[in-house]
Amino acid sequence: MQIIRPMPVSLEVYADTDYQRQVEASAECPNCGVRDSLEPLGYYSRGITSTGRDVLRILIRRFRCTTCFRTVSVLPSFAHPYRLVASATVSQFFSGTIAAVNARWVPLLAQYEIRVGRWLPSIRGILRSLVPVLPQAVTFHGWWTSLRGGLGELDRITQTLVGRFQVTLFGRYRCHALLRPHNLVIRKEFDGWNAQGANETGP
Ligand SMILES: [Zn+2]
Repeated sequence: MQIIRPMPVSLEVYADTDYQRQVEASAECPNCGVRDSLEPLGYYSRGITSTGRDVLRILIRRFRCTTCFRTVSVLPSFAHPYRLVASATVSQFFSGTIAAVNARWVPLLAQYEIRVGRWLPSIRGILRSLVPVLPQAVTFHGWWTSLRGGLGELDRITQTLVGRFQVTLFGRYRCHALLRPHNLVIRKEFDGWNAQGANETGP
């Protein structure tokens, strides 16, 4: 399982200071609910874009429950599950603006928009329960403007969707299972992306 949590530091500070070491376990296991049952298990590595600094590798802290033995990872909310581009940059693109230094990610961001636009109608009921004023049938921009107005930027939207419904704007959330070894393989460099929207980075 994965928890998405806001961090008190920026992505760059997180990466530069090994902030993952300071990430604490939740008070209780999100799987079984037992208190004080999570113990450190280690880290996995994933990529994330950083404005002006290309792709950074960051480490995500993992814990294991001593009661139910399931693992829990704590993903900083500046990252989106399985997506390479930082949530803030995705938010900016969806809102119609993008910093010049992030222009190289526009082709990938355009694929994000297509993928999200195709998935949103599938979770119309969920979205309407969160944002009651959501129009019946709207353009992608209409969806995004309503969601952003009701819930905030992408990091907040994702936190809400994952925490309450186990979905993201990209699809169903698949972080329930134990991490399998192949998920821990670290790609040294980002080497392109799959047009079908395959995972670009670790969870
Ligand atoms: Zn547990």
